[in-house]
Amino acid sequence: MSSTKFSSLHDIVSNRLCTGCGTCALLAPTHVKMAETADENRRPAIATDLPPSLDKFLAGACPSVGNRDADTSSPVAQAWGPVLEVWEGYAADEEIRFKGSSGGAVTALSLAAMQFAGFAGALHVKASLTNPKLNEARMSNSRDELMEGAGSRYAPASVADRLDLVADAEGACVVIGKPCDITAVKAIGELRVDVARNIGLTISIFCAGTPSHAGTDALLKHLGKPENTDLKSMRYRGNGWPGEMTARWIDGDKPRVASTSYADGWGNILQAHRQWRCMTCADHTGEVADLSVGDPWQTPTEEGGHGKSLIIVRTERGRAMLRRAVAAGFLNLAPRSPKVLFDAQPNLVATKGAVWGRRLMQRLSGRKAVPMREDSFRAWLDLPFRAKAQSTLGTLKRIVKRKFYLKKQTVWLDAEGRN
Ligand SMILES: Cc1cc2nc3c(=O)[nH]c(=O)nc-3n(C[C@H](O)[C@H](O)[C@H](O)COP(=O)(O)OP(=O)(O)OC[C@H]3O[C@@H](n4cnc5c(N)ncnc54)[C@H](O)[C@@H]3O)c2cc1C
Repeated sequence: MSSTKFSSLHDIVSNRLCTGCGTCALLAPTHVKMAETADENRRPAIATDLPPSLDKFLAGACPSVGNRDADTSSPVAQAWGPVLEVWEGYAADEEIRFKGSSGGAVTALSLAAMQFAGFAGALHVKASLTNPKLNEARMSNSRDELMEGAGSRYAPASVADRLDLVADAEGACVVIGKPCDITAVKAIGELRVDVARNIGLTISIFCAGTPSHAGTDALLKHLGKPENTDLKSMRYRGNGWPGEMTARWIDGDKPRVASTSYADGWGNILQAHRQWRCMTCADHTGEVADLSVGDPWQTPTEEGGHGKSLIIVRTERGRAMLRRAVAAGFLNLAPRSPKVLFDAQPNLVATKGAVWGRRLMQRLSGRKAVPMREDSFRAWLDLPFRAKAQSTLGTLKRIVKRKFYLKKQTVWLDAEGRN
């Protein structure tokens, strides 16, 4: 995967094409660090003395603007990427199932890889130890550590900038992330042998887009947390399906807790704060992962009940690990037809089509855009007339209303590495 249209990281960030995956920070750690920016996203902070040749190399390696061949050989492949098998089920361990976002399949698979396949650990996202509003990628080596990450974090997060932990691990690791994270992991694996040799399995969660930290702030306000109080924890999913969005804080010396439903928190608040790059993303299910996991919305569990995960097997490596996890009693699963994906996630198929219209309008309005993809174009052709108009004219309106024609500020690091 390589891109030639972009000559610098600044070019990518200022055109709002950065996903915040952290690839550049891993490849050039002395010149680039991931930072939480003033506009409430996760972006590379770039040293002002970054050599132009290195800058060009990093722009060429950026998975966010790279191109990838799309499989349009069948309606299933066009909509979902490679699909060998589809399964629906849940973690056999009740606590993992309860704490997990959906059915705890991601956590159960990772635990099985460590306990039955000799994996050294799993690199994944958890709440920051110092600020519960932020996220950080950490290596888990035990069930307890894995459980710290169970559930979804609907706020900026990245794993690729911590692939050094995988390179330094004593054996194969699971790497868990969103589709953009796993695309980054794959791109880095093609450049760094030390990382590639320890990537034993990649698991992508489905993702409709990452809300900014401003989204979490709006959610906290909605929950009634006063600004000057001390946030103790923020949970977005899990503890029953789909789980409530729950914040805990200290007001004076009084502990406070407030929750709202997932439907309210996501539907009325967080989704409006998704970063623009996510709105032009053609891969919401992790097409390059070994396994992808999402919600089986076609058979919703009773609110607050025990959840289930929908699992796509994409590679032989993924298939082998899933078989081992089931045989070892970590997962209870039932097979499903790949066609079930269309009923489970109809919004994600429609989005794949809309993305083609959005990228087109980005280009026509003079902005740089990520490469057009054939699968996305075909999905766009399948959209009803109204959705086609929304993806094009609606995008134009959004570009004007949200001032997307203005370039974004890049974060620069000074000589001491401060931004
Ligand atoms: C922003 C966002 C949007 C999503 N949109 C959809 C959607 O449209 N449709 C759908 O079906 N599912 C969506 N999901 C995924 C869903 O919430 C579950 O994560 C997924 O079904 C796996 O559930 P599980 O119980 O098997 O995983 P669990 O056992 O709960 O494990 C979840 C794993 O995901 C990792 N993780 C959590 N948050 C992040 C993050 N922000 N970045 C990287 N890794 C993370 C954790 O570290 C953990 O290892 C979204 C998740 C996020 C974070």
